[in-house]
Amino acid sequence: MSEIKMTEAPLGIEGPGFVATSLDKVIGLARSNSIWPLPFATSCCGIEFMATMGANYDLARFGSERLSFSPRQADLLMVMGTIAKKMGPVLRQVYLQMAEPRWVIAVGACASSGGIFDTYSVLQGIDRVIPVDVYVPGCPPRPEQIIDGVMRIQDLVKNESLRRRNSTEYKQLLAGYGIQ
Ligand code: SF4
Repeated sequence: MSEIKMTEAPLGIEGPGFVATSLDKVIGLARSNSIWPLPFATSCCGIEFMATMGANYDLARFGSERLSFSPRQADLLMVMGTIAKKMGPVLRQVYLQMAEPRWVIAVGACASSGGIFDTYSVLQGIDRVIPVDVYVPGCPPRPEQIIDGVMRIQDLVKNESLRRRNSTEYKQLLAGYGIQ
C-alpha cells in the first residue's frame, strides 16, 4: 500500500512540467524498481524461483532480472529451500557481506520455519540467524506467490525512510542478531 500523500504544489513551481515530491520518494521509487536479488537456493523452492525468472512469469517486469551471485552487488537476499544448521553461518556471512540497504525474503515453508523438517539438523527458520522482511508461505510457493513476495518488498523499499538504517530501532534489531 502506497503512503504517498498528495499535496498542493508550492507557489512558483506549479503548472505543467513540474512535480513536487520529496527525495525519499524519488529514491524509494528508483530503488524499488531496480532491486538486484541474490538467490540463495538450496532445494525445491529454488526450482520455483527458476520458473519465476522464466518467460511465463518474467520477474524482469519488476526490474529484478539482474540476479547477483555476489553479495556485494545485491540488495535483496532471497532464501529458498531447506537450510541446515551447518549452513546457518554461511547464510549469515552472505547477509553480512551485503551492503545497506538490504532486504531479505524467506521463500517457502523451509526457509520461513523449517517446514516439514522438524529435525535436529534443520534450522527452524532463517530468522534465527538473520532478520527477515517478508515471508512467502507454501511448500513450494507458486511463482505468483514469489512475485507477490517481491512486490511486498517493493512496497517496503518504496516507503522506507532514508533515515531508517540509522535509526535506533534498526540498530537494536541488528544487535538482537549480534550484528554491529
Ligand atoms: S518448502 Fe517445500 S518445496 Fe520448499 S524447499 Fe521446503 S520442502 Fe522443498
